Amino acid sequence: MPIPTEPVGSLPRPAKLQAAFADYDAGKIARERLEREQDAACLDSIKRMEATGSPIVSDGEQRASSFATYPLTDTLAGTGLAPNLAADGQYFAIFADGHHRQLPRLTGGPFRYKTYAAQYVEKAKQMASKPLKQAVIAPSMLALLYPLDGEVEGYTRQQFLSDLVDECEKDIRQCFAAGAARVSIDFTEGRLACRNDPRNPWTGRGMLGQFVELNNRVLDRFSPEERLNIGIHTCPGGDCDSTHSADVDYADLLPSMFNMNAGYFLMQLSSENDKERVYRLIGQHSREDANGVAQVCFVGVTNPQNPRVETSQEICDDLMLAAKYIPKERLGSTDDCGFSPFSIDMKPKHGSPDAARDIAFQKIKSRVEGTSMASEQLGVS
Ligand SMILES: [Zn+2]
Repeated sequence: MPIPTEPVGSLPRPAKLQAAFADYDAGKIARERLEREQDAACLDSIKRMEATGSPIVSDGEQRASSFATYPLTDTLAGTGLAPNLAADGQYFAIFADGHHRQLPRLTGGPFRYKTYAAQYVEKAKQMASKPLKQAVIAPSMLALLYPLDGEVEGYTRQQFLSDLVDECEKDIRQCFAAGAARVSIDFTEGRLACRNDPRNPWTGRGMLGQFVELNNRVLDRFSPEERLNIGIHTCPGGDCDSTHSADVDYADLLPSMFNMNAGYFLMQLSSENDKERVYRLIGQHSREDANGVAQVCFVGVTNPQNPRVETSQEICDDLMLAAKYIPKERLGSTDDCGFSPFSIDMKPKHGSPDAARDIAFQKIKSRVEGTSMASEQLGVS
């Protein structure tokens, strides 16, 4: 079998769609009008991703407010916020360029998703002629909806976490039922948990262990056969062409991360300074048997924050080096992150979101070609 290759999930929303989100927030257009723009952007995303030769595609998350908030709110400005939530929650991340993104705050129970990712899969299914992947948010991110200290009146942390685990399991199961071939769980908070940023209190609490345990509560509800197609994505963040935890050493994250019983991992790597060291760490810590499933390691070979398009030769070279440390039957390739995890993202280093879309498809095409070259050289094509 050739080396598998898979996108993380998101693409920049076209400028026209971002304007429609703003008009919807301002009450200038109706919901139907926003949905028309989302339909058009999803169709364009799927068709263009299929044209890259990618064996598996996504709708680019064009309907989602963000990778983290899609179950909770229709737009990033908070239009259509789910019940029992207020807008003023914790920072989920403060990025290197100084901007931040904030989560809502839980005000009561019970906690329920308003939107499940399967709703996106159902619509994408009608547009795609290739297998679909869908990204979902990790319970460890949504655990941050609960106040860091203290208790929500009438709804204990324990009750909340139990509801959260149920909702995450349902989110994943429904994606498969709607026709997704693969589901990956976004775990960008994992690396950030190894940072201690006094401006962002939760990062200083050593929460990585709890995150891993919580995510395993969801993963352990799936059989090994199901977990073959359930992945985890790790990255140092990717928003407005900036990152939030690129300074965290992978050695602090990987040993814990591979304790999660997922069948595959999508890992930022192309923008690492010392890739070879990280390939070696992955080889050391990834598991042949994670509770019945081998952990396939998809290494990032393109950088969505940088407009320079990687050549297929560079990508092939990266994979050949990775194959020195990671068994070739457990090696895959991916992009370092989604190309735009948040719906409103001007992609400043790219000039515009529309230019960034064009570049994203070129990068995906390079990834597909470079991966096929490496498969041939490794004798697995
Ligand atoms: Zn990411």
